[in-house]
Amino acid sequence: MAVIGAGAAGFMAAIAAAESGARVTLYNSHPLPGLKILMSGGTRCNVTHAVVGPESFHGGSRPAIGLVLKSFPADAVRRWFEARGVPLKEEPGGKLFPVGDSARAVVAMFEAELDRLGIRRRFGHPVTSMTRRDGVFHLDTPAGTDSARAVILTSGGLSYPKTGSDGSGYRLARGMGHAITPTTPALTPLVLAGGALFDLQGLTLPAALTLRIDGRRRVTRAGSLLLTHFGLSGPAALDMSRHWLGAPSGADRRIFVHWRPGPARSLADGGGLVDPPGA
Ligand SMILES: Cc1cc2nc3c(=O)[nH]c(=O)nc-3n(C[C@H](O)[C@H](O)[C@H](O)COP(=O)(O)OP(=O)(O)OC[C@H]3O[C@@H](n4cnc5c(N)ncnc54)[C@H](O)[C@@H]3O)c2cc1C
Repeated sequence: MAVIGAGAAGFMAAIAAAESGARVTLYNSHPLPGLKILMSGGTRCNVTHAVVGPESFHGGSRPAIGLVLKSFPADAVRRWFEARGVPLKEEPGGKLFPVGDSARAVVAMFEAELDRLGIRRRFGHPVTSMTRRDGVFHLDTPAGTDSARAVILTSGGLSYPKTGSDGSGYRLARGMGHAITPTTPALTPLVLAGGALFDLQGLTLPAALTLRIDGRRRVTRAGSLLLTHFGLSGPAALDMSRHWLGAPSGADRRIFVHWRPGPARSLADGGGLVDPPGA
């Protein structure tokens, strides 16, 4: 079996396949695997959350995500990591981090698992094209062509292409006949063209942002709002970015800031949405 991409998804897929008895080769474009894991959670790696439900995910089919979560729920994830020497601690708000506050411990554990299970590494080997003949996949890399009976494609999204996640996986999937859902940037700060808010840069305040499209309220996101030299950041702005970017082109889209938002709801009750007075 070939697993294409040694990020969080590829490590887990390769380990699960090898534990089920498959002979696995793990490919990665970048010579270093798991670079996004190392960046995650401010280099501490927020491994999971105490409560994870389908409503925590954006995009994809909720029932399908529900099935995945049912087969590997958050408490099982916690036990999985602990059994492999990475105990997790829960922080206020429910986020789970390695006890040692180090994303490196997570990548080191994954690499140790590759050794334990005899998974072959092909790091620094991008898969440039893939074909299938007579039930066998042929994977082209700069070092030659390899064969596999099955392929798991875990090549990441489009963010941080320097990690090797450059979208080539979408091309490989398309070449195999898969349809690709259009991608949208998400969890990005919002850049302002100008205005009085720049005078407040450096402040972090609890606030709620409401997006109106053609005058109609579409979504409200509440949380910390960080006023920066370029615009808005912090959880409220980051959460809002995909809605802003996903608005239909040509629509009149505006974001309103509520400086005194109503009470936030818990994650289990709608993901932090609020109904600020007057919104
Ligand atoms: C700054 C930052 C902070 C984050 N913090 C958190 C957090 O705290 N908690 C959390 O859960 N998530 C966090 N995330 C999100 C999380 O890091 C990603 O969702 C996750 O790492 C994605 O894993 P992946 O395996 O799907 O993809 P990736 O990590 O992108 O891995 C894909 C791999 O595939 C390889 N690849 C791509 N194309 C090919 C090819 N053609 N051939 C061979 N190899 C290929 C790449 O080199 C790459 O190593 C954060 C992300 C960022 C950027």
